[in-house]
Amino acid sequence: MAEITARTTDKLRYLVDQLDEIRQKGLATTIRTLESPQGAWLRIEGREVLNFCSNNYLGFANDPELIAAAKAAMDAYGVGPGAVRTIAGTMAPHIALEERLAAFKGVEATISFQSGFNANLATIPTLVGEGDAVVTDALNHASIIDGCRLTKATRYIYQHCDMDSLDEKLAEAARKAPRAILVITDGVFSMDGDIAPLDRIAAVAERYGAITMVDDAHGEGVLGHGGRGAVDHFGLSGVFDIEVGTMSKAFGVMGGYTAAKRPIVDWLRQRARPFLFSSALSVPDTAACLAAVDILARSTDRVDRLWDNARYFQGEMRRLGFDLGHTQTPITPVMLGDEQLAQATSRRLFAAGVFGTAIAFPTVPLGKARIRVMISAAHSRADLDFGLETFASVGRELGIIGA
Ligand SMILES: *Cc1c(COP(=O)(O)O)cnc(C)c1O
Repeated sequence: MAEITARTTDKLRYLVDQLDEIRQKGLATTIRTLESPQGAWLRIEGREVLNFCSNNYLGFANDPELIAAAKAAMDAYGVGPGAVRTIAGTMAPHIALEERLAAFKGVEATISFQSGFNANLATIPTLVGEGDAVVTDALNHASIIDGCRLTKATRYIYQHCDMDSLDEKLAEAARKAPRAILVITDGVFSMDGDIAPLDRIAAVAERYGAITMVDDAHGEGVLGHGGRGAVDHFGLSGVFDIEVGTMSKAFGVMGGYTAAKRPIVDWLRQRARPFLFSSALSVPDTAACLAAVDILARSTDRVDRLWDNARYFQGEMRRLGFDLGHTQTPITPVMLGDEQLAQATSRRLFAAGVFGTAIAFPTVPLGKARIRVMISAAHSRADLDFGLETFASVGRELGIIGA
């Protein structure tokens, strides 16, 4: 046994060395185990801590209405979809979710996937291929980057939210007379909280006849009327061709979808590989997503509370002297720069009862480490005040803000 272990270690030496190196540099993440549901507070290692980390923007992850919907669907349909959707895995709740989502988003059709990550892997390489062009923002999410890697289309990367750069890359792409050009951007950039200028992107893309796509993972349930997303926020319904969304953030569950004009969704149903070769979203997940959409369609209360909370927290943090970068959304990056400082801050916050994970390379560039605070509608004013007091005392202790 010892001999086997020794051999294995030797063979894996290159991995062990790399792990040691990132641990020494403070670039290894510590993953905490939660002993409670997602909510404003979490139980971790037997202690109650304020949750400043989850993407559960609207508090849906542990909502009684979603839980009841999941249980009822399990009673009616069981748990598993049984197969890929094209063979025997499409159930009534999958179709209901797609129809209800399309109505909520005001689009012709939607198609659901197992995750937002998969929605990008399904959508990008299915829409463009050899002889086409894909033009993508330099700071787009990893799942967009991977979706682009899976296509044989020529890739052009424009500088982050820079419309001159976008125009330049589109002109470069157009010179090769591609069959199709696809422009892709995040709606909200998840590490900084800035919003892509979809109105200007649509206008530039229009001059080249390019198809426009936004991955609105952090805009769904947050931006636009009652959380209808970034396209609604800019009043671009029917103009932006494709919206990719996730059900794992504001919707509080799991899953992803693409909302678009009918021919796009029809084509994805015929050819998208994660749709054809990976089983459908589970039944309880699907039913819970449906309940979340119904609550949002009914009332803007939760989205309004989320924004009230975000404005209050960010205003107070800036008053304390913290640098929050250029966020325009409830995503609140507390910019620290140094990776070790970010790790130390996270540890001190945790000891004082606030769960705020340090985010460093490769999720953000080297030297741009931060604590990313995620504000939720589930936080009360007292919760936010506790978070503010804790940030203030840790910030002073570590010399991040003045005494
Ligand atoms: C989180 C995120 C995803 C992935 O969504 P999952 O449903 O968690 O797979 C995709 N794109 C963006 C921009 C994201 O922020």
